[in-house]
Amino acid sequence: MRMIDSHAHLDDRAFDKDRAALIAKLHAEEIGAITVGASLESSRAAVRLAERHRGLWATVGAHPHGARFVDRKTIEEFARLAARPCVVAIGEIGLDYYRDLSPRDVQRRVFSEQLALAAAVDLPIVLHNRESTDDLLAILRDRAEAHRGVVHSFLGDASLAETFLGLGLHLGVGGPLTFPKNGALRAAVKGTPLDRMLLETDCPYLTPVPYRGRRNEPAYIRYVAEAIAELKGISPENVASQTAENACRLFGLRSQET
Ligand SMILES: [Zn+2]
Repeated sequence: MRMIDSHAHLDDRAFDKDRAALIAKLHAEEIGAITVGASLESSRAAVRLAERHRGLWATVGAHPHGARFVDRKTIEEFARLAARPCVVAIGEIGLDYYRDLSPRDVQRRVFSEQLALAAAVDLPIVLHNRESTDDLLAILRDRAEAHRGVVHSFLGDASLAETFLGLGLHLGVGGPLTFPKNGALRAAVKGTPLDRMLLETDCPYLTPVPYRGRRNEPAYIRYVAEAIAELKGISPENVASQTAENACRLFGLRSQET
C-alpha cells in the first residue's frame, strides 16, 4: 500500500452519490483508508464498508458530540463490533468543549468508559480533542495502562506535541497543516519524529490547500505528505511510505479478503 488515510468518514452522506467510484479510485491508486465511527450507526456503517472492501478498515466508538446518547447497551454493542477482524481501533472518542453538544460531565464519563473498552478489547484509540486538552490529559493520565493510539487532527504547538508523544501516542496530521495561519502546528510537526505521525484527511472535512473549501477525500492526503516533506526536507514518497508503515504497525492492518 502506497499511502494510508488513517482517518476518513467514508460513511458520510457527502459520499452517497459516488462512494463506489471513490473506493475504486483508492484501490487503483493503492491508498488504504480507515473509516472512523462516530456513533453506533456510523460505526456499523464503517464495519459494513470495511467488510466489503479490501484496503478499508473500521473503527467503532462514540464522538463526544453524541455522548449523551451513549448507555451501557451502546458500549456493549461497540464491544461486539470490536471483535470483527476489520475493526482496528476504538474511536473517535474524547472531549469537545468547543461545541459542547453533550454536557461536559457526560463527555468525560463516556470517554472514560470507552478508554476502558479499548483496554478490555486490546485495541488502540483514536482521540478527538477540541478546546478540552487539560481534562483530556487528566483522564488519560488517570488510567494505569500505557496508551496506544493517535491524537486525531492534532492542532497544537510543539510543547503539546511533546506531551502527547510522551504518553505514547501518535499525531494525526491532516489538511490544517496546509492552512497559512497554522505556523505553530508546522513547527510542532517539523519537530515530531516521522515514525510517530500518521496522515489523515478527516474527509469530507478539513480539505487541504489547493482544494480547501471543497469536499475532502482520501486521495488528498498526498498534499499533506507534500507539506510534511517540505518541512522536513525529505521526499513526499518517504513521508507516504513511513506513515503508512506507522499506521500498519499501530493498527495491526492486514488486508481483508474480498
Ligand atoms: Zn473524524
